[in-house]
Amino acid sequence: MTEPLQFHLTLYPEPVLRKVAVDVPAFDDDLRATVRAMFDLMYQSNGVGLAAPQVGLQKRILVLNATGKPEDELALVNVTIVDRTGEPSLYEEGCLSFPGIYAEVKRPERCRVKAFSPDGAPIEREFDGFVSRIVQHEYDHLEGVLLVDRMSAADKQRHKAALQELVDRYRSRASSAARTR
Ligand SMILES: [Zn+2]
Repeated sequence: MTEPLQFHLTLYPEPVLRKVAVDVPAFDDDLRATVRAMFDLMYQSNGVGLAAPQVGLQKRILVLNATGKPEDELALVNVTIVDRTGEPSLYEEGCLSFPGIYAEVKRPERCRVKAFSPDGAPIEREFDGFVSRIVQHEYDHLEGVLLVDRMSAADKQRHKAALQELVDRYRSRASSAARTR
């Protein structure tokens, strides 16, 4: 028996978070196990969305669940936002890769996506409200765009110490990994 797939969260400023994710080549059992493990980690972390770069994978996969009900699970593979419409609004966002940091981000009300389900079924849907907000946030991750890029200069200043602490922790993890190599 193989071990169940288990991921850990990739935290800012790990370099994979800055890479543009690439399409998944096959809709196979590996993909479905990846999607399941992403949902598991998202729920454990009390998140409403998670993108593959946040588990260290440079793949165009995102999972979300705006309500936490099983029927509201949504996995979007090889996803593209094809249109964004509606009045832009400000809303406070958090990010599992930036623990404890929240900032208002301006985004259009609606987005239309083309994607595939983990089984390879084509999906074309328009989202609005909170779900649209989550989709746009997670989609940013696939383009290497992060909360820190979307926040205002004032918020960036307000979170300066917390952001620096994440950078310091990353550097100390990286140097201890280099020492044990
Ligand atoms: Zn995020």
